[in-house]
Order: sequence, then C-alpha cells, then structure tokens
Amino acid sequence: MDKKLLYEGKAKRVFQADQEDAVIMEFKDDATAFNGQKRGQIADKGVINCALTARLYRYLEDRRIPTHLLEALDERRLLVRRLTMIPLEVVVRNRVAGSLSQRTGLEEGTELASCVVEFYFKNDALGDPLFNEDHIRALGLADDNTIAELKALALRVNRVLSPFLLERQLILVDFKLEFGRFQGRLLLGDEITPDTCRLWDASSLEKLDKDRFRRDLGDVEGAYQEVWKRVQK
Ligand code: UDP
Repeated sequence: MDKKLLYEGKAKRVFQADQEDAVIMEFKDDATAFNGQKRGQIADKGVINCALTARLYRYLEDRRIPTHLLEALDERRLLVRRLTMIPLEVVVRNRVAGSLSQRTGLEEGTELASCVVEFYFKNDALGDPLFNEDHIRALGLADDNTIAELKALALRVNRVLSPFLLERQLILVDFKLEFGRFQGRLLLGDEITPDTCRLWDASSLEKLDKDRFRRDLGDVEGAYQEVWKRVQK
C-alpha cells in the first residue's frame, strides 16, 4: 500500500509510517542551492546521505545525544520519530566559510577562536534570514530555555562529530541542524550530510561537500562517495 506523502522538500520526501508517531524520510538525488535558484541531480546522493545520516545519528545516540532516528528501512529510507519541528536552522561554525566570510570579510578557512552558533528562521519566502535570540523570542519561535537547550545540543554535536570526522581526515568547517519535540523532549531531527555540512580534506583542504555543486567545482559525486568511504569506517 502506498504511504501517504506528508511533505516534499528539496532533498527529501516525508511519508506517514504505519505507527502514528513515526514518519519515513526518503532521500532524493535532487540538489538545489541559492534558495532553489540552482537545481540539479547528484547521482546516488540520496543513498549516500541516507547511509551517512543513519551512521552519524547512531554514533550521536551512543554518546547520549537524542535524535529522531528509529531504524534504517532500506538504502534511501529512514524510519524516524514524528517531531513537532522548531522553525529554526541552527548553524555551528568552527572556521569561516560561506555567508560568514561574506558577513565578516574574513577569508574562508580562517579558524575561529571559539565556535559560533547562529540561528536562521526557516522561511523559504524570506530566504531563511539570520535571527538573533531576541528575534526568536519576539516572534514566539522558542523560549529562553529552548534557545539555551538548542545551543547546548548543537555544541555537543560539534564536540562529538568534529573529532570523529578528523580521525577520518575530514575537517568539520560548519554544519546546520534542525530540532523538534517528541513527547515534550527536544530531539535532533532532519539529516547530517555533505548537503548540510562543510567538510574539507584535512591535508589538502579540498572541499568534499555541497559547495562542489554550489560553486561548480566538478566531481560532486566523487566527493560524496569519498565522505561515505571515510565515515563508514
Ligand atoms: N546550510 C544548510 N542549509 C541552508 C543553509 C546552510 O544546510 O539552508 C549549511 C551549509 O551547508 C553550511 C552551513 O549551513 O554547512 C553554513 O552555511 P552558510 O550560512 O555559510 O550559507 P551558504 O554559504 O551555504 O549559503
């Protein structure tokens, strides 16, 4: 029987699972950038991103970071808890890149003296604007406790994943997380993949993430495969 499609995004589809409190996330090969203005396909991206998210979320769970992951169903689909999402993107940065380079004038790759956590309001029509904590409170998107919890969880993810990836010769430059509530508890949702992280080779600083697609650097598929090869170990 066909499952009911609940939501279709740029890189994933979400279906209702048999259990009422769970959904199925299906990873597509579609890629978009610049708020949907650039579109394309990356061969087998969905398969790699599905496997990567399952691997990394299990690793985080083992280190007591709560996630929505329940089980991997097949090569493109994960069964996850159904969350009430908080409409924020939480970005953690270890080095300057992308929009932070534009905002500060600092060169990409500059190491930051301390991690930077940023919040973006998830709103396609507005192009996901940068919000500070006052904006979040004033719009009633999250209260003080939730903001503090989001920040603490995002920094814990960074403390766990940065060394894990560095052991695999990958620098975690920055990444984006999304959170939601399940039975009142805040859980890590969505995905962690080269679509949502900047990952650089530790010696050559070669980009092994979606910037290869955004900036037309070539061999996008090879970069995603290389990340999976290193992370699956
Ligand atoms: N990011 C994301 N989704 C977005 C915007 C950013 O996953 O809608 C990720 C991006 O891949 C990078 C980090 O968040 O790892 C910081 O992105 P940045 O603010 O530098 O924006 P960009 O340069 O990607 O526009």
